[in-house]
Amino acid sequence: MEVILASKAGFCFGVKRAVDKAFEEAEKKINSDTGESSAVFTFGPIIHNEEVTKRLKEKGVNVIESTDEIKNLPAGTRIIIRSHGVGKDIYRIIEENGLQIVDATCPFVSNIHKIVSEQSEKGDVILIIGNPGHAEVEGTIGWSGEETYVINSVDDIRALPDIKDRNITVVSQTTYSLKKFQELVAELQDIYYNVNVCKTICNATEERQKEAEELSSSVDAMIVIGGRNSSNTQKLYEISRQQCNNTYYIQTLDDLDLTVFESASRVGITAGASTPNDIIKEVQNSMSEQSFEEMLQDETPVSIRPGQVIEGEVITVKPDELVVNINYKSDGIVTAAEYSNTPVDLTTVVKPGDSILVKVIKTNDGDGQVLLSHRRVAAEQAYAELEEAFNEGKVLKGKVVQVLSGGLSVQVSECRVFIPASLVSDTFERDLSKYLDQEIEFVLTEYEPRKRRVIGNRKKLVAEEKEKAAAELFAKINVGDTIDGVIKNITDFGAFVDLGGADGLLHISEMSWGRVDNPKKIFSVGDKVKAFIKEINGDKIALSLKFDDQNPWLTAEEKYAVGTVVTGKVARMTDFGAFVVLEPGIDALLHVSQIALQRIEKPSDVLKVGDEVTAKVVDFKPADKKISLSIKAYLKDQGVEAPAEEAAEEAADAE
Ligand code: SF4
Repeated sequence: MEVILASKAGFCFGVKRAVDKAFEEAEKKINSDTGESSAVFTFGPIIHNEEVTKRLKEKGVNVIESTDEIKNLPAGTRIIIRSHGVGKDIYRIIEENGLQIVDATCPFVSNIHKIVSEQSEKGDVILIIGNPGHAEVEGTIGWSGEETYVINSVDDIRALPDIKDRNITVVSQTTYSLKKFQELVAELQDIYYNVNVCKTICNATEERQKEAEELSSSVDAMIVIGGRNSSNTQKLYEISRQQCNNTYYIQTLDDLDLTVFESASRVGITAGASTPNDIIKEVQNSMSEQSFEEMLQDETPVSIRPGQVIEGEVITVKPDELVVNINYKSDGIVTAAEYSNTPVDLTTVVKPGDSILVKVIKTNDGDGQVLLSHRRVAAEQAYAELEEAFNEGKVLKGKVVQVLSGGLSVQVSECRVFIPASLVSDTFERDLSKYLDQEIEFVLTEYEPRKRRVIGNRKKLVAEEKEKAAAELFAKINVGDTIDGVIKNITDFGAFVDLGGADGLLHISEMSWGRVDNPKKIFSVGDKVKAFIKEINGDKIALSLKFDDQNPWLTAEEKYAVGTVVTGKVARMTDFGAFVVLEPGIDALLHVSQIALQRIEKPSDVLKVGDEVTAKVVDFKPADKKISLSIKAYLKDQGVEAPAEEAAEEAADAE
């Protein structure tokens, strides 16, 4: 692979000057007697690069963001003005508060301040072509008069007030796109006559952009290095992306995925004006060496470089750290945080003598040790496995490590997969907490690791499994079969029984040969039942517990022959009589005329539901399943006399 580093990549003159000044100030001893120095701050980050800001902070140079903070600082504090510059009023406030100014404003930016200050004093309208809100633009406004406008688009030009009769001075943000600047100037010159254009785009920016354009058009892949907030780096990325689709924007080597360059034979590198040289070099070195696979093949590295993957042997294991022999002059360290994303006591998972695959993070951590990461290698391998699983539709298994409001976070090796709540199951589940710490299976439906979108779908598997189980069930069941099931849901009209693949309905009328008023009184969810299949209609299965061999009418003729004395409970009553349950499934009629020896108007005159009665079977019609009872006959058999009036009536009836 050929790696070409742009000659204009990295710190420009102004940024280098400001950064050097900041580090110099950090080292300065103001008081030679005590050796102490006054505090040093930068007004805003010295440059748009987090790494540089962090390094300065480690040296005691902190950032202040507002004039309110300035007012609270003790006299003598040094305030470094960054290369982008600040407005005139900031200088005044610093001085009024007795603080010292260390002016690191880039001379090119100071020149713009001078232009806008002088021209606005002469009465010109000032137009600043740049990004509204950018620190340099804000600083420039602070040197200009009231009639100053920021132009970033043709719409901004159209929105200007009526300035046709005025002299107009145009300046530009130093890091603005040259092409866009030229387009906007052309538009201005079309509308206005008295336009004095000062091309204040810095040569360094212009040259860097031109070089990025040329380089990106001649390579297979392009790397743009710089802070996320760096406007000039963003522009380099935009320019490069227009020429080369495989353009990657990274802040440090850690953001670089070497696997994406496997098929590239020419790779270009450029960097924004605020990118430190050592970060650029680190990336260049990693790219200039072998590809990921080639690195894996290295057996005995006499030299190592950040990003290299090596197989080492664990020498020492502590709960929070591993010492690894990588056949290098120094041993490497893997901290627990670089071993795994999940907190772990290393003594429980690794032992001395184990071989381990590690990635070099730093060749020297300052104490002469090599910093290594196992987690990053595992993550790269895991992402490769996820990609393969996504492309081939393979089923993955992972542990649910977090229940989020919108779904589940599942750990697969060192990667996290998100399963939205709607894709967890084939039915809506309000409470997903039961999945926490569970191993679940799923497939990937989206895989875009760069956008951090790795989306899993368990619902698909659940639905497929159910479909398969249903097909298997229907293939083996027939009407009349006895089948085991579990009560899944109970309603007023019956119960749904899980048959392992499909549900069957056990209707209330099929629950017993007897009468069932409320299914919930005889079943609970989770009860096991053995039923028979009464009917299969499409995917609907009707069940019954009314087994033929348990039909009470099979033995009724023998048990309830005419003349037999029986005992039963009154189940319901009508005007013409009461129905008495002799056993579940067999009710007998006790006619109103047979309830008592004396005449009664209606059954409820002497009986109520639930009463136990003893009576004689006086009629049995097996074909109609009808049995008639008589208390009267039973009492007579017992020798009980009817009241005199009733007896006379009966005698008269008999004559
Ligand atoms: S880009 Fe140009 S103007 Fe801006 S700081 Fe660098 S040298 Fe100065």
